[in-house]
Amino acid sequence: MTTSRSQASTATDARGSGRPRVVIVGSGFGGLFAAKALRRSDVDVTVVAKTSHHLFQPLLYQVATGILSEGEIAPATREVLRGQRNTRVMMGEVTDIDLAAHTVTSTVLGRTTVHPYDELIVAAGAGQSYFGNDRFAEFAPGMKSIDDALELRGRIFGAFELAELATDPAEIDRLLTFVVVGAGPTGVEMAGQIAELAHRTLRRDFRNIDPTEARIILLDAAPKVLPSFGEKLGDRARRQLGEIGVEVQLGAMVTDVDADGIEVKDTDGQVRRINAATKIWAAGVQASELGRILGEQSGAEVDRAGRISVQPDLTLPGHPEVHVVGDMMSLNRLPGVAQVAIQGGRYAADQIKRRLAGREARGPFVYHDKGSMATISRFHAVADIGKLRFEGFIAWMLWLVVHLMYIVGFKSRITTVLHWLVSFLGRGRSQRVATQQQVYGRLALEQLGPQFEVSKSGGPKDGVVAAEDVTGRRSA
Ligand SMILES: Cc1cc2nc3c(=O)[nH]c(=O)nc-3n(C[C@H](O)[C@H](O)[C@H](O)COP(=O)(O)OP(=O)(O)OC[C@H]3O[C@@H](n4cnc5c(N)ncnc54)[C@H](O)[C@@H]3O)c2cc1C
Repeated sequence: MTTSRSQASTATDARGSGRPRVVIVGSGFGGLFAAKALRRSDVDVTVVAKTSHHLFQPLLYQVATGILSEGEIAPATREVLRGQRNTRVMMGEVTDIDLAAHTVTSTVLGRTTVHPYDELIVAAGAGQSYFGNDRFAEFAPGMKSIDDALELRGRIFGAFELAELATDPAEIDRLLTFVVVGAGPTGVEMAGQIAELAHRTLRRDFRNIDPTEARIILLDAAPKVLPSFGEKLGDRARRQLGEIGVEVQLGAMVTDVDADGIEVKDTDGQVRRINAATKIWAAGVQASELGRILGEQSGAEVDRAGRISVQPDLTLPGHPEVHVVGDMMSLNRLPGVAQVAIQGGRYAADQIKRRLAGREARGPFVYHDKGSMATISRFHAVADIGKLRFEGFIAWMLWLVVHLMYIVGFKSRITTVLHWLVSFLGRGRSQRVATQQQVYGRLALEQLGPQFEVSKSGGPKDGVVAAEDVTGRRSA
């Protein structure tokens, strides 16, 4: 099958019923929950997002380590919103927002669409931050998207495969060393799962190597594991990680990353190298670039992490029709967690309903903290809920129930439970597949560089044809 070439085009999305137009940027927690909250409103809702799915990011690490499939944590947004007659879902990366003209411009493979709005909710989230060292990304992928998780799955399982083939002991050690950078919840969960993979799941699968000899290192420049959970739970988590075979190295600042390993500087100023084929970056976030675009036009401050300061009602100064929610907004030092985005999205939707109905505005946005949780291994988690602190099995059960509640879709909940049974009661992992395209995808895009950018903006080739050129494989 040959791939057709795309034509560059720009169109204004003038369709609608004449009702007020609400445009929502992003189909993550903020965007999706805002859209759902508008389901019975007398408005036309358009959700514009650069992916066609809603992503449940907290379980990305389970996709990366073969527990869950990507479909379970990333249902198609249009399927989720299918029953909502007043809502349309449109794929596209928003490249510009014009606050004066009240328009949002999005593009996908050279097709540019201008979406006029009466009310706008921006919930474009955040990406990975390498603290100014973006070159690390090639060797230490982050975990922000399905692409990241599938690439990591390929790298993790691939490292064991290559170790089975290797004969040089130093090379085997390098292939069986996994470094996770960042000892927050994502890093802890990722390191814990790689340890379980090596020590339980893969234990009997190889003949030349012993997977239980894999070294899993969790490192952080900070002196604590899970600092936001407080000292006691952080210490417990650290001890538990040690028990399942994770080496925790704190006060270790990453100074360089390359294909073969990672260089770290300890608090005593000593620089040392860890040879490791697989490096995973779970440290730091950078808010969507749209924050800067909105800041320039509204005068709202944008912090170093790219988050835009919002008014107490989550709007921009001088623009009561523009609401910013979730990871890309900054207000009262609220954390970048799903509940802030969900509650913010619902609040913005409610404000819009009130404004359009001529009702009195609600008071300032108040965040209700429902607590935080992180799993360490099967049957072990830590949970910090109000004044209560849980650890071990009780915390793990709580974690299980809460995550199941928030997974979108009944079907996904059922299959998730089945996969959890396979992995947690048994030793298996049902999702160990990593296709060659997934493993080579990033390489192809990197080698393509500017050509891929041209194709995105409507050049002679589209991304699919181009990927084919580089890898020599047909992708469509
Ligand atoms: C690995 C990981 C684990 C996490 N674990 C937890 C946890 O256990 N508990 C917890 O509470 N929080 C957790 N979080 C944080 C939580 O997922 C975020 O706080 C939450 O997703 C923020 O919601 P959001 O709507 O602001 O952004 P997102 O959910 O990131 O959604 C952003 C949306 O905007 C779209 N988008 C981005 N840029 C553009 C653009 N230019 N044009 C169009 N669309 C765009 C994206 O495609 C996406 O649909 C985790 C995050 C990660 C990455």
